[in-house]
Amino acid sequence: MFEFDSIPVPELELGGLEVPLTEEERAVADSVRRFALERMRPLGKQLDRMSADEVAAGKALLLDFLRDYRDLGCGLEFLNELSPRQRARLFPIIHGYLGWGDAGLAILTAAASFPAFAAYQTGNPELIERFGTKIGCWMGTQPDRGSDTVDLQGTELRLGSQHGTPNLAARITDDEIILTGQTSAWVSGGPIAECGLAYVPADYGSGLRRSNGLLNGAVILVPFDEKGVSKGRPVEKLGQRPLPQGAIFFDEVRLPRNYLLANNERIDGHFFTSFVFANMEMACVFSGLARAAFQSALEYVHQRRQGGGHLIEHQNVRHRIFQLWRKVESARAIAQRACDFNFLGKPHVLASATAKIVATELACEVAQDALSLFGGNGLTKEYPMEKYLRDARASLIEDGENNILGLVCAGHISNWFRQHGTEVK
Ligand SMILES: Cc1cc2nc3c(=O)[nH]c(=O)nc-3n(C[C@H](O)[C@H](O)[C@H](O)COP(=O)(O)OP(=O)(O)OC[C@H]3O[C@@H](n4cnc5c(N)ncnc54)[C@H](O)[C@@H]3O)c2cc1C
Repeated sequence: MFEFDSIPVPELELGGLEVPLTEEERAVADSVRRFALERMRPLGKQLDRMSADEVAAGKALLLDFLRDYRDLGCGLEFLNELSPRQRARLFPIIHGYLGWGDAGLAILTAAASFPAFAAYQTGNPELIERFGTKIGCWMGTQPDRGSDTVDLQGTELRLGSQHGTPNLAARITDDEIILTGQTSAWVSGGPIAECGLAYVPADYGSGLRRSNGLLNGAVILVPFDEKGVSKGRPVEKLGQRPLPQGAIFFDEVRLPRNYLLANNERIDGHFFTSFVFANMEMACVFSGLARAAFQSALEYVHQRRQGGGHLIEHQNVRHRIFQLWRKVESARAIAQRACDFNFLGKPHVLASATAKIVATELACEVAQDALSLFGGNGLTKEYPMEKYLRDARASLIEDGENNILGLVCAGHISNWFRQHGTEVK
């Protein structure tokens, strides 16, 4: 089956077990890699050392970055023009390299494009004109609605209970939307955003709740230059500091009815779409972070001398390097699998959330264990390891805390079993 004259050094495309890239894939990979290395890493490091207030005040740095990213031409518009197969290959390459550059900035590229992308999907020229070029954010969670936002169908509610009263809700009449309340403090890109895509409980005239106790909902495009919109202070947090978060407040903000993108009947599907995309992107970004942490450690153990030789000469260090390698490869494999499933098959959150959970947990383990290979140096700001670890740690909670996401996945697996019963082998 295979034939060799001698034992070759493995050819590792993208630093891993990658099938050979086509010319186009190579060109895209090279240009995103350069962007990640030359643009994202220095900026990520600079922003990481600033306070959250300073990052938000230095908004121009982030806006310039987003403009440069758009000019790179590897965004969603580019991917949308490809065949599903090309998309399934290039999505993890692009987003993997963005995460390899800087995880927080990588997430910003996606979060900032949510409203514009949603506006384009409507095909409505007025919405495209109003939101198509604006820096946006995704507003799903609220102070008292964190994991409950992810558990849309209420499968994880305590028996006999219901989701609590929302902190932000919309009243929807025949000709307008009135938005009142506040988001959670966790809206990524919120402090610099000019608009947002809101997923909110809604009252269409007969109250906030459906007959089964679950909340009615709406998906709404919201410009932040409307009267009554204000912003909270940016959050000081561990990790992904270049990606600022902050609450958005709405005081009886009145919007035209056509800013409503999905009503009660369509909200589940709309939310599902965002969720499928966002969790898949997280899997790619954090498999990229894992690769970056692994590569730094690989370089370090070939340079640092202890115990009479380079660290790599010690058997236990080689064992630890292999553990990192297998975790990076596992993270990359599951991210690619989710992309294949979603772009080539029937997309499902089960694929995206499984990949998100596995890739973020592996990235966190890789960052943690790679840091230890640096000894004390790993804890210092001179090396990138402590930042990788902080950035990876945040990912376990972002876009749905992994435990609750796992419960949502288990629900889908069980639904599948119930439908297929004994066909399951
Ligand atoms: C870096 C970052 C970026 C983010 N970006 C955004 C954004 O752009 N937009 C946005 O809207 N939100 C964003 N979030 C919010 C994020 O989605 C929430 O933090 C997350 O969903 C968890 O909600 P919570 O923090 O309120 O925790 P809680 O919901 O209070 O959960 C606390 C713990 O309890 C567990 N738990 C909760 N409910 C259950 C249950 N029913 N059964 C079992 N266990 C349960 C959870 O698993 C978790 O471990 C971001 C968060 C972070 C950290």
